Amino acid sequence: MYNLIIIRYGEINLKGDNKHDFIGQLIKNIDHAIADLGDFEITTVYGRIFLHAESSVIEELLRRIVKLPGIVSASPAVDFKLNKAVSDFSDEDYKKLKEKALKLFKTEVKNYPCSFKVETNRADKSFPIKSPKLNAEIGSAILTNIESEEKALQVDVHNPDHLFEIEITRGKIYLFLRRESGPGGLPVKSSGQALLMLSGGIDSPVAGWYALKRGLKIGAVYFHSPPYTSERAKEKVKELAKVLSQYGGEIKVQIPYFTEIQQQIVKKCPEKYTITIMRRMMVRIANHLAENNGQKALITGESLGQVASQTLEGIQATDDVSTLPILRPLITADKNEIIKLAKKIGSYEISIRPYEDCCTVFIPEEPVTKPILKIVRAKEEALKIESLIENSLEKMEILNLK
Ligand code: ATP
Ligand code: MG
Repeated sequence: MYNLIIIRYGEINLKGDNKHDFIGQLIKNIDHAIADLGDFEITTVYGRIFLHAESSVIEELLRRIVKLPGIVSASPAVDFKLNKAVSDFSDEDYKKLKEKALKLFKTEVKNYPCSFKVETNRADKSFPIKSPKLNAEIGSAILTNIESEEKALQVDVHNPDHLFEIEITRGKIYLFLRRESGPGGLPVKSSGQALLMLSGGIDSPVAGWYALKRGLKIGAVYFHSPPYTSERAKEKVKELAKVLSQYGGEIKVQIPYFTEIQQQIVKKCPEKYTITIMRRMMVRIANHLAENNGQKALITGESLGQVASQTLEGIQATDDVSTLPILRPLITADKNEIIKLAKKIGSYEISIRPYEDCCTVFIPEEPVTKPILKIVRAKEEALKIESLIENSLEKMEILNLK
């Protein structure tokens, strides 16, 4: 029986003059995420966005919307149609409101015994009935009726199973029973654009999700080394990009051909420096792509101390070849925290499928953990860096995933 979704945003409220740009971006993102389901009316009222739709699509709309950065929570709701000012709310209207509240409760609450509580937010003070009175009377109307059907229902004001909310804002009355949490943060694109270095592992998709949550629009780059890394590894990356697109819209994935670069590194550079040099090559290419795409930063899934290359010295060795800032959202996160989030966002099951990582295929016995910049730069001179990058980009594949 729902006919709208109430969407709440949090941090955007703290924005000053450009608050409307953030809200405008969020509305665009909502629109984009649901466009294939139909044409829906979106309205805004003080601190809220309302998405109007038929009840048959509400659950699907809600499922998509609660993924969008910038949204703190969303509630499927019904509005109580009152064709006059709320200050003229009559006894007759009150009777109808009680009936509507009861109907909503009965449609939504199926499992008994359970407990509930009615809570009113009377933002519009011209509504004549005060909140405590409304809570008590609507609550009692629901309770008596359900009890008359011999179902076990209780009022619990501290820890109810169901919180029945009534919101009276700007001359309108809304009823709802659920608040679904969103990720919070800022609307995608409101912070600009960046390029995610996306491998098939657990970490980088989570790093990408964090970047989306802070309002970055992302593209992705995946370095592919056939035949050392298989088609299957590439499929994983594609699926991970699709998962991320549920949060941030379509994602352009660029797949440079990395085989020749790796072969040359293994052939021409000392074994213990191969990983460091390989990462520097990735970062050089990523910089080149990002600059052409209009992206202002790179994002990686690195976490301090997690593997041999993720030391401060290792980070310095990659930063050394980057003109763009490299964002590392997971730098201080533990693996178990990352795994927990990966499960929540839906990337974990894809990430743990077996695959060959282009880093592990050529992994040296004893990689240097504290690479010294001067030495790395010197060892790299054995490579024809410019032409290797050119070849790698010539064979690059580009996909748009959603
Ligand atoms: P992940 O779980 O994200 O693969 P990891 O713990 O395996 O990370 P590394 O393999 O050292 O760590 O990679 C560190 C970061 O470098 C990754 O998080 C990712 O951002 C980037 N990266 C590694 N391999 C690739 C690749 N083949 N293509 C694109 N980016 C990559
Ligand atoms: Mg990896």
